[in-house]
Amino acid sequence: MQDLYGRKIEYLRVSVTDACNLCCSYCMPEDARGKCPCKNSMSIDEFHEIASAAAKLGVKKLRITGGEPLVRSDIVELSRALAQIPGIEDIAMTTNGTLLADKAEALFEAGIHRINISLDTLDARKYSEITRGGRLADAISGIKAALEAGMKPVKINSVLIGGFNDDEIEALARLTEYYPVDVRFIELMPIGHTAPYGENAYIPNSVVLEKLPELRELESEKGTVARLYSLPDAKGRVGLISPLSNHFCSQCNRLRLTADGCLKPCLHSAEEINVRGLHGDELEQTILTAVSHKPKMHVELSATERSESQRSMYRIGG
Ligand code: SAM
Ligand code: SF4
Repeated sequence: MQDLYGRKIEYLRVSVTDACNLCCSYCMPEDARGKCPCKNSMSIDEFHEIASAAAKLGVKKLRITGGEPLVRSDIVELSRALAQIPGIEDIAMTTNGTLLADKAEALFEAGIHRINISLDTLDARKYSEITRGGRLADAISGIKAALEAGMKPVKINSVLIGGFNDDEIEALARLTEYYPVDVRFIELMPIGHTAPYGENAYIPNSVVLEKLPELRELESEKGTVARLYSLPDAKGRVGLISPLSNHFCSQCNRLRLTADGCLKPCLHSAEEINVRGLHGDELEQTILTAVSHKPKMHVELSATERSESQRSMYRIGG
């Protein structure tokens, strides 16, 4: 599938639930916590049908995300069903990792060999604060379980928030010296609900390079939006994902499917196109319509200019 600007669309991010066991202050409003909008989430068969149609049209890569995908009791079966779709060459998951310890092996066996785990701090008190009650030890156990299960690569996603974790850039990056993991710093995005962060929270990823001048740039990988670096003799890499300071619209190869069955042509636009309940030709034509509605680029984002998305991140999946 190609969009109006010649970009090849091969990547579908599938949000499998809006529910989450944590409530990160940049992602989910406090009043959404504990409510279970999972009643609206699609079934395995519904996800399978939509993802299969997308694969038939040229999607090769899937990412399962949420909300927190591991709160779904059928996540192993759902992962297996999506991994087996003909044409899907690459399937991965993004998770907060806190429920992963018990499920990593089963997920690996179901076809999830690549995983991204969100971890913004190595301080247990700050972890509890940013996730509104999560336990750092649970996330660390999840990372260890992913490595033990043989998942590769294991990527750690850290949202960089000025005044919260910019003093931990070095400690987070140095995880790559001890463990075979990639640590990726992601600029905080002003989307949907985000706690009322002041301008100082939105810091560019260039601060990572300032704090760690020994980082050496590596060749970037096809299909990823991270600029890659490594510390001398490290086992893993450091990635910079810079949606504000260096947006990657010209390379955008993705569509997003929400848990309630809408396609989002662009993360930061308000447009959503329902595909739930559609079948056959009608489903395929609607997916092609979503691709043709991809804008050339999204609105400028900054501390004062917010995304036009009507959904908060926990209802999109990142
Ligand atoms: N619950 C899973 C997790 O936390 O990894 C998957 C869903 S979460 C919405 C996906 C990613 O979006 C996470 O890495 C999270 O840190 C990131 N994210 C959420 N809100 C964000 C924001 N306002 N700016 C930048 N990244 C954000
Ligand atoms: Fe939940 Fe992930 Fe959002 Fe945190 S970032 S509230 S873990 S969906």
